[in-house]
Amino acid sequence: MPLLVMKFGGTSVADLARIENAAKKVQAEVARGYDVIVIVSAMSGETNKMVGFVEGTSKLYDAREYDAVVSSGENVTAGLMALRLQEMGIAARSWQGWQVPINTTSAHSSARFVSIPRDNIDAKFAEGFKVAVVAGFQGVSAEGRVTTLGRGGSDTTAVAFAAAFGAERCDIYTDVDGVYTTDPRITNKARKLDKIAFEEMLELASLGAKVLQTRSVELAMRYKVRLRVLSSFEETDENSGTLVCDEDEIMESKVVSGVAYSRDEAKVTLVRVEDRPGIAAAIFGPLAEAGVNVDMIVQNISEVEVGSSKGATTDMTFSCPTNQVARAQKAMEDAVAAGMITYDGIVVDSDVAKISVVGIGMRSHAGVAATMFKALSKENVNIKVIATSEIKISVLIDRKYMELAVQALHDAFELEKA
Ligand code: ADP
Ligand code: ASP
Ligand code: MG
Repeated sequence: MPLLVMKFGGTSVADLARIENAAKKVQAEVARGYDVIVIVSAMSGETNKMVGFVEGTSKLYDAREYDAVVSSGENVTAGLMALRLQEMGIAARSWQGWQVPINTTSAHSSARFVSIPRDNIDAKFAEGFKVAVVAGFQGVSAEGRVTTLGRGGSDTTAVAFAAAFGAERCDIYTDVDGVYTTDPRITNKARKLDKIAFEEMLELASLGAKVLQTRSVELAMRYKVRLRVLSSFEETDENSGTLVCDEDEIMESKVVSGVAYSRDEAKVTLVRVEDRPGIAAAIFGPLAEAGVNVDMIVQNISEVEVGSSKGATTDMTFSCPTNQVARAQKAMEDAVAAGMITYDGIVVDSDVAKISVVGIGMRSHAGVAATMFKALSKENVNIKVIATSEIKISVLIDRKYMELAVQALHDAFELEKA
């Protein structure tokens, strides 16, 4: 039997009526002759609520219990989806991660897949079951503990199942009808893309476009999964939505194809760090060990202050997720206490956002940075930090200008035009 993976996100299973609506989409594919693996998220808001419960109970919580709690929303929707399909006369059952089993590493709250053995689910399909409903976002460690894959992780569960079971396609049903040139909530000029290259989607996702979890795009790229994003609220057919695919399948070639933003950024500056060989390693080594995901880094030129007893000093600035600032500060204080570094102070700016423009066309076109900076300067937006790679340019700016900056860049690169 040909097989499809269909994933429904939180808003698509937010209540019983929406679960029924999603189940009808599954029913239609079964009627077309497919066996279906359905991956479900928790009802929207549930995971956040449970994260709140955990944080309200314990400040330095045990990550294993965090996963035990926050994974539970998906169990509810998996069971309800199986029940709804049964009510429609479709042979379906639910699977929690450990029942499959979805084997993962023990890195709680950011676990990675180790293996997804097919035997149990294949045996049920062979018995005549048409649909396996699998709880997204969760797995089980070698120690037998429940794990989760990080926020938005059900996308990754879906792609992993599509790869493991050789699905014809992996359809991600969500509350927008595809991948847009930027978040359609920020500007109504955002334009839906029919196709987007894996590499561009990977950059957009990792730079904040939460329509797909970054890891899901990585897996799809590696295992050549045909990945599609489409709306669970509209009539859809095989041509709906956005296909994430190889670069050479795409005719349209714009230099910049999308704008992403992330409000979850903080800028940390170590003021007047002693400047000598090895200083960067002495700063970023401890940060890495403390699990701080450093993104952008800027080091100022070295200065020697007149009359200072110190040698040359420099300011070192880096960005990291807002919720890792406390950990970063502690790591730096520990490094000072251990005699690894010296500095005059730490300045934290949590009111920043990162805005990025992405496009594979940048590889062969100059001038993107100039256009970007000009557009921001026209709006009087000050740039605090800049980072570039082959197919993206990111800037850190004051968070209050985030929407304005996204809109200005969307206009500057004429993304509303096909
Ligand atoms: P789900 O619960 O279905 O997983 P998410 O909320 O995780 O849905 O992701 C969908 C949301 O991603 C959209 O509602 C949209 O606001 C946001 N988004 C951000 N960037 C983009 C983009 N470039 N294209 C489409 N949606 C985007
Ligand atoms: N329910 C989880 C979350 O909110 C996983 C997901 O929806 O993909 O992060
Ligand atoms: Mg999501």
